[in-house]
Amino acid sequence: MQDLLNDIAGKMKLATERGEVANYIPQLAHVDPQQFGIAVATPDGQVFAAGDAREPFSIQSISKVFALTLALGKQGDSLWQYVGREPSGDPFNSIVQLEHESGKPRNPFINAGAIAVVDAIMMGHEPKEVLAELLSFVRFLANDDRLYFDHEVAASELEHKHRNASLAHFMKAFGRLHHDVDKVIGTYFHQCAVAMNCVQLAQAGLFLVSDGVNQVTGTRVVSAQRARRINSLMMMCGHYDGSGEFAFRVGLPGKSGVGGGILAIAPARASIAVWSPGLDNIGNSLLGTRALEMLVQETGWSVFGH
Ligand code: GLN
Repeated sequence: MQDLLNDIAGKMKLATERGEVANYIPQLAHVDPQQFGIAVATPDGQVFAAGDAREPFSIQSISKVFALTLALGKQGDSLWQYVGREPSGDPFNSIVQLEHESGKPRNPFINAGAIAVVDAIMMGHEPKEVLAELLSFVRFLANDDRLYFDHEVAASELEHKHRNASLAHFMKAFGRLHHDVDKVIGTYFHQCAVAMNCVQLAQAGLFLVSDGVNQVTGTRVVSAQRARRINSLMMMCGHYDGSGEFAFRVGLPGKSGVGGGILAIAPARASIAVWSPGLDNIGNSLLGTRALEMLVQETGWSVFGH
C-alpha cells in the first residue's frame, strides 16, 4: 500500500493539468495548486500516507457528511422532512430545483440541503453552541483534538455570501428554515471552514468503513443501517452533478469539497482521503479523482466489483 501511494503521489506531483483552484472564496484562491496528498486508514489501525498528506486544508463540503451524521443523531428519520435523498443532477449551489420543489432541497450534500441540515442541528441552540458541538464531534471522529476552524476562510466566505444567502432566503420564503438566515449561514460557513489534513480526514471516515463503528478507537458512532445509508448518499450525491461520473470512474461512496479534498469509503476495507486544490469544471478535485481511480484500479476496492 505504501509503495502504491508513493507511486500515485509521485505521478500526481508531475501532472501538468491540475484544474482550477476555487476562487469564489478568495481565501481558497491563495492555496498552492502544486500540492497533492493522499492517506489511507484501515480499521486495524494502520495509516499509509504520501505527498502533502499532513498539510491542513479547508474540508468545505466534506463537512456535510459530519453535519448530516450529527443531525441524524439528533433528529433521527424526522430529518427527512427537511431535506430529500435523491441526486440533484445540478451544480452544488443551484437554486432552480428549489423553486420547483417548494424549497425542499434534494439532498443533504448540495448547499441548500446542507443549510437545511445546519438549521435542523440548531434547534434551540445558538450558533456558538452548535459550532462547539460540531467541532468536538469531528475531533471525536478523527480522534484528534488539534482540528480547528479556519476563521479566515469562514470570514472570506461570509464576505461573498450572496449565493448561499439567496438559497437560505429562498427556503425561508417557503417557511422551511426555522432560524434567522444570517445565523444559519454563518454557522454553515464555519462548518465548511474546518481545517484537516488527509491523515486526519481518513481517520474521521473510519466509522463508515466498519458498519458505524470506529474500530481503532473501539467506539460505535452510528448504527450499521445509518452508516450504510450515509454511504449510499455519498455514492449518489457526494459529487453533485458529477456523482455519476465519480461512480463510473471510482465506484466508491465519496464526498468532495471545493478546497480540493475528497473523502472516499471502501466498505470493510479502508477510509481514503485525497487532496489537490485544483478543481474540474463541476468543482471536484481533478487530481484527487484521478488518484482515487488509480488506487481503486490497483486494489480492486470498487463496490461494483474488481
Ligand atoms: N462552503 C462552500 C459553499 O458553500 C462549500 C461548497 C463545496 O465545497 N462544494 O459554496
